[in-house]
Amino acid sequence: MSQFLDERYSALAAYVPGEQPQDKKYIKLNTNESPFPPSQAVLEAVNESQVELLRLYPDPDGRVLTKKLADYYGVEENQVFLANGSDDILNFAFMAYGANGRKSYFADITYGFYSVFANLHLSDYTEIPLKDDFTIDVDKFCGVDGIVFIANPNAPTGIALTISEVEQIVSSNPASVVVIDEAYVDFGAQSAVSLVNKYSNLLVVQTYSKSRSMAGARLGFAIGSKEIINDLHKLRYSTNPYNINRLTLVAGEKTIDTQSYYDDNCQKIIDARCYTKAELEKLGFRVLESQANFLFAESDEIDGGELYLRLKESGILVRHFTSERIKNFNRITIGTQEQMEILVKTIKQILEAN
Ligand SMILES: *Cc1c(COP(=O)(O)O)cnc(C)c1O
Repeated sequence: MSQFLDERYSALAAYVPGEQPQDKKYIKLNTNESPFPPSQAVLEAVNESQVELLRLYPDPDGRVLTKKLADYYGVEENQVFLANGSDDILNFAFMAYGANGRKSYFADITYGFYSVFANLHLSDYTEIPLKDDFTIDVDKFCGVDGIVFIANPNAPTGIALTISEVEQIVSSNPASVVVIDEAYVDFGAQSAVSLVNKYSNLLVVQTYSKSRSMAGARLGFAIGSKEIINDLHKLRYSTNPYNINRLTLVAGEKTIDTQSYYDDNCQKIIDARCYTKAELEKLGFRVLESQANFLFAESDEIDGGELYLRLKESGILVRHFTSERIKNFNRITIGTQEQMEILVKTIKQILEAN
């Protein structure tokens, strides 16, 4: 830290992303990326003539992509907001509705970025503990006095709320914005997009990083009331109006044009998830019920940190968290069926040698 840093940032603990090792080839099951490439249409669209156009600024409103998303989700164009990954949107939402002493609420075990943004923006935040079975305590999120952030399905548990539980939370907080972070919704949960025209306090956030095979391109979007979307545009135009680059916009457009390819990929991941869960259970693991592209699992036979290390030595990366309640678990991204078979075989060998 330099002597020049503003003192309100000196104690800030930054978000720690999962490892992106460059040293050797791992089976990478640690950051919930897709094992499948973007569709052929995306690969062809990001071509030499698009690269030539990089000399020009992108459309700051991403109008072509916005219209495609609005049509796909059945909302108006002024209800869609685009950003540089969904983290960008979460940042704006904290800035707009939970900063400088205003209150915010999220679970104690959830996406790690919520507490980082809360600290960054000096939010007066409360972490509401998950219940003993690791589900969201819905009642405790009802009738609160500040912005609510819920990842649905939750990370790193994978457990989803039903649409009626989400609606309960949204309808009980009419004076506060409720953000439903649907980074993993395409792997089997119900989206709250269908509720946005009923509740003006609801903001649904999604990303191209997981189900749409574009983590490296950085593209997220939100759907909500036109008033909330307007607030977010105001902050975006006050920060970086060109926050999405041209190549990413083009890739995003072609992605929607080829949605059935991504639907098929999601189904493959769901099938591989079912296979992996059953196999881990046969090996004695406790595996939480996941509607996401990852599993959260622990074993009585081996410590979570130990399993993480043994897997890494064997060329498989998973994600281990050190916080008290979940330190015996590992979060395992679902890759291809073939990758998951190697994972299961490797875990068997590790347990036998243990
Ligand atoms: C991955 C993830 C995000 C961030 O996604 P980007 O669009 O890549 O910024 C947001 N929320 C949750 C819960 C995630 O797991």
